[in-house]
Amino acid sequence: APFSSVKTTRSTCPYCGVGCGVKITQGADGTRSLQGDPDHPANKGRLCSKGSALLETIGLEDRLLHPVVDGHRADWDSAIARAASAFSSTIAQHGPESVAFYVSGQMLTEDYYVANKLMKGFIGTGNIDTNSRLCMASTVAGHRRAFGTDTVPGCYEDLELADLVVLVGSNLAWCHPVLYQRIVAAKAERPEMRVVNIDPRRTATCDIADLHLPLKSGSDVALFNTLLAEISRRGACNWRYINDHVSGFMSALGAARASDPDATGLSRDDINAFCDMWIGTEKVVTVFSQGVNQSSNGTDKVNAIINCHLATGRIGRPGMGPFSVTGQPNAMGGREVGGLANMLANHLDIDDQTHRDAVKKFWNSPRIAQGPGRKAVDLFQAVADGKIKALWIIGTNPAVSMPDADLVRDAIELCDFVAVSDVTARTDTARLADVLFPALGWGEKDGTVTNSERRISRQRPFLPAPGEARADWRIICDVACAMGWSDAFTHAKPADVFREHAQLSRVTASFGLDFDISALSEIGDTDYETLHPFRWPVGNVDNARLFGDGGFYTPDRRARMIPVRHSGPAKPDAYPLVLNTGRVRDHWHTLTRTGKSARLSKHIAEPYLEIHPDDARQHGLKPADIAAVQNPTGRALLRVLVTDRVRPGEMFAPMHWTGEFTSEGRIDAVVPSRVDPVSGQPESKAAPVKVSRF
Ligand code: SF4
Repeated sequence: APFSSVKTTRSTCPYCGVGCGVKITQGADGTRSLQGDPDHPANKGRLCSKGSALLETIGLEDRLLHPVVDGHRADWDSAIARAASAFSSTIAQHGPESVAFYVSGQMLTEDYYVANKLMKGFIGTGNIDTNSRLCMASTVAGHRRAFGTDTVPGCYEDLELADLVVLVGSNLAWCHPVLYQRIVAAKAERPEMRVVNIDPRRTATCDIADLHLPLKSGSDVALFNTLLAEISRRGACNWRYINDHVSGFMSALGAARASDPDATGLSRDDINAFCDMWIGTEKVVTVFSQGVNQSSNGTDKVNAIINCHLATGRIGRPGMGPFSVTGQPNAMGGREVGGLANMLANHLDIDDQTHRDAVKKFWNSPRIAQGPGRKAVDLFQAVADGKIKALWIIGTNPAVSMPDADLVRDAIELCDFVAVSDVTARTDTARLADVLFPALGWGEKDGTVTNSERRISRQRPFLPAPGEARADWRIICDVACAMGWSDAFTHAKPADVFREHAQLSRVTASFGLDFDISALSEIGDTDYETLHPFRWPVGNVDNARLFGDGGFYTPDRRARMIPVRHSGPAKPDAYPLVLNTGRVRDHWHTLTRTGKSARLSKHIAEPYLEIHPDDARQHGLKPADIAAVQNPTGRALLRVLVTDRVRPGEMFAPMHWTGEFTSEGRIDAVVPSRVDPVSGQPESKAAPVKVSRF
């Protein structure tokens, strides 16, 4: 219907962790247009292909518009009652450890907050984990080991102020395109600025690289240990910073000196060129992403990078620091509310009794989780083993996106009770649900998200709720009330949840920890509605950068350098090739949104396998053949793309395609569930496989 006047809504893009602001304008004639928000500090008006196509993805085709119970349309009261009764009776019969939630970095902070509160404070177990486990759990663990808390020290401006930007395991040009655009623009203005790209693949990001280091998959620790040893050998340590603010230098250096540079597969000349640039440039930012995190030694990789910055004191100052870029729009918000099984809430420690008591008191809850719950891989294994009997999956598609996806799909299918909240019933996971809750999607949801630089922004609705769809926070509160906890889940709107979240951060601050937005505890509804993007911690005069003068969140306020050792991915003889998985430029996760845009699908229309010419020859594969990639975990069929962009012995395949789009393109069916022992993050970048012509 036509609108009486032009209306502009400011919101944020729901894709990657850059967290770009968007402006949606509805004309008086009912037409809509979308632009990058020039006033949003993350993107200053820029957008990438995915963000600019958002309005092509909001059609109601395929939308789930009403609750479904046991395959039949149901009303909300019956669906909520069925889920509440399934969880309550399972807990009564088998205890709280027999239930779990698996949630998503697509959820808004308010959704995440109440889900975590229900599971940890009222059901009383830590069994809530998130698909962010697959994204940046190793960074969380690395930050906590080094800094005492999960704190990103810097901000996006640092990428423009740096004289050297080092990208590690990050195809920034495709996966965080607006940050890439910002670096391109900064480099055009200051041609002396240099970029190093450390990635086994020669990706689009190499277009701006002065040096590309195609290291062997999984050898990042060996490279950064070599750098640390060189920093010390060349007398480039910042002893004032180390003496005042850092512990563990000698043990980290000892481990670094024991590292073999040849483990990287790089030439000594390339390694020396990298060390020359890194050591010789004070303003250096090391950006890292999934190539670091999605590894069986991802946490060690994170700490190997942080060690180099701590040894040189290059942290928390303009243009300097280690910088993690997150994959999802609200992975950071999930970290803040404790949406990971091994975190409590608001950066409080689930292993600390005093923290647990304080949160229990704040929530006035009958119980509190007594320790970490099951992390994603372990959680779905427990479903497969029948230990978890009631499961609620919210805003994610683990039957496609989890490693060992066939096992996960079968486990969900056999689980006694499964509720799924989603915008569509047509995902591989939603098809397995006993109860389907229709959730609001982007453009309809109302709340906040946090991007990779600790900036909290609003997502605002500009579309009406379709059919009977409801907000995730409300569905969760309704189930909590039906389980008997109506006093604690009285929130009537997202602002109520946000205020409680901000109030809880006062408890965090009282323990001397980092996540403090308590100044917003009494924020009014109107101020919440008009909230401008801001970084936490609130109240700090200059909160753009932390740790420039120390002040870490460990008990003695000193950072920790961690001794780390190289350990490459497993490579059994029968499966001699290493399969790397990742994103393509114009698609997102399992295609439920970007798959709706014909324009986005034009870029790459089907799953494919990048294979080196030597390997293609050896395995009898020609361009455009169909290859069977397999191992004991499973099999995927992929179109062959012969290219020297990958190293011999290593291959790449995108992660997006599902049973909905191709019968056997689900690449996570061949990714084993090998995890980092510290973070629990799966090794999605290095599956041992063999390949043959199909
Ligand atoms: Fe959206 Fe990320 Fe693109 Fe920005 S860079 S428009 S947040 S997908």
